[in-house]
Amino acid sequence: MTIAILALQGAFAEHKAMLDRLGANCFEIRKLQDLSRPFDGLILPGGESTVMKKLLRDLYLFDPLFSKLQDGLPVFGTCAGLLLLAKRVTGGEPCFGTLSVTARRNAYGRQLESFYTNQDFGGLGSIPMPFIRAPYIEQADDFVTVLSQADNHIVAVREQYQLATAFHPELTGDPTVHRYFLDMIEERANQQMTHLSFHQDCKTWQAGSLSPKMGLCLTKTENN
Ligand code: GLN
Repeated sequence: MTIAILALQGAFAEHKAMLDRLGANCFEIRKLQDLSRPFDGLILPGGESTVMKKLLRDLYLFDPLFSKLQDGLPVFGTCAGLLLLAKRVTGGEPCFGTLSVTARRNAYGRQLESFYTNQDFGGLGSIPMPFIRAPYIEQADDFVTVLSQADNHIVAVREQYQLATAFHPELTGDPTVHRYFLDMIEERANQQMTHLSFHQDCKTWQAGSLSPKMGLCLTKTENN
């Protein structure tokens, strides 16, 4: 399994350190040519979303990454990364807009620019959560799973294979969120394998042999 980390600006090195610790392969994306390497998941780090958005366009990275996200590439956005994924941004402009939430940029105001708390993440226990000029999620659409809340605001969500946190788990020693992301990638790979074997099964059946999934194949063939 290989993870690509967008490394245009911000806290990308810390994600790499965490993935190294977990034994996951990773490399950095800085320019278009880097996208020629295959990868199974993408990390959009914290930093400054407006700067990253501009660099994504200037370096011609936006379109190829957008199309990978639309194809269901697993992605993990932290803080500014969450803002790059959000469909709606209060106090800013959406970028990829693939995550069905409204995120409020710089949501905590000046007095609380940076703070630290411990809250549950996805029922996996309490984890440390550093917030730095962070957004929070004002509204998540019905099919989005809320994984964490802090101070009555949504701060971590999952939608299909998209994971986003308003806080920075890569700045703590706690690997829970990164491990969750790696599990998510594995889940998608397994799902794709099932898909593949289903299609292969259909081909075998259409060639005339008996298939244990014949009912399913029939439905698919009829729909075609
Ligand atoms: N406030 C930043 C932005 O608007 C996000 C801060 C962060 O990523 N720590 O992009």
